[in-house]
Amino acid sequence: MATLKRICVYCGSSSGRKPEYVAAARELGACLVREGLELVYGGASIGLMGAVADAVLAAGGRVIGVIPRGLAEHVGHERLSECHVVDSMHERKTMMYELADGFIALPGGMGTLEEVFEILTWAQLGYHGKPCGALNACGYYDRLMGFLDHCVAERFVAAEHRQMFLVAATAEQLLAQFRAYAPVRCSKWL
Ligand code: AMP
Repeated sequence: MATLKRICVYCGSSSGRKPEYVAAARELGACLVREGLELVYGGASIGLMGAVADAVLAAGGRVIGVIPRGLAEHVGHERLSECHVVDSMHERKTMMYELADGFIALPGGMGTLEEVFEILTWAQLGYHGKPCGALNACGYYDRLMGFLDHCVAERFVAAEHRQMFLVAATAEQLLAQFRAYAPVRCSKWL
C-alpha cells in the first residue's frame, strides 16, 4: 500500500484539441483536493498545466510549482502556494521527483512523455517504488499502451515493468490504483 501526500502531474503546456482534456485536468485537480493530496507540477500557467493548478487552488488545495528560470519569466503561474525557480530542466525534474509520492500523466506532448518515461525507467531500475500512471482522458493514451504491449511482445520490456504503468479513465480510479500499488520487484535484465 502506498502512502500518498503529494502527487506530481505531468501534462501538456497546450490544452489540446478537445475540451474534454481541460475538463479532465480540472477534475483531477478537484479530486486531489477531495482526497487530501497536494499537487506538484511544472509551475506554468498555460495549457493543461494551468488548468490543473487553477482547479486545485479553486478547491482550496496546495500547489507546489517547480520551474526553470527562463520559463518562469514567460509562463510562470503567479498564484501558487509554493514555487521553486530552478536553474535547469534536470534540476526541475529531480525536485519534482523528490517532492512527490506518485506521478500522473494527463494528456500532453513530448515534454509530458519524456517526464513520465523518465520516472518509469527509474522505477524499473529499482531507484524508487512510487506509483506512476496515465489518466487516459478520451482514450488519449490507448495507442501508447498498445505500443508498450508490442514492446513486451518483442521482449524489450518485461511484462512486470509494463504493468508498472497504471492507467485509468478517471482520477478516482487512478488514485485508487495508486493507493493499492505495491512496487514491482523484477530484474531489468531480460
Ligand atoms: P508538453 O507535453 O510537450 O507540452 O510539455 C509539458 C511538460 O513538459 C510539462 O509537464 C512541463 O514540466 C514541461 N514543459 C514543456 N514545455 C513547457 C512550458 N512551455 N512551460 C512549462 N513547462 C513546460
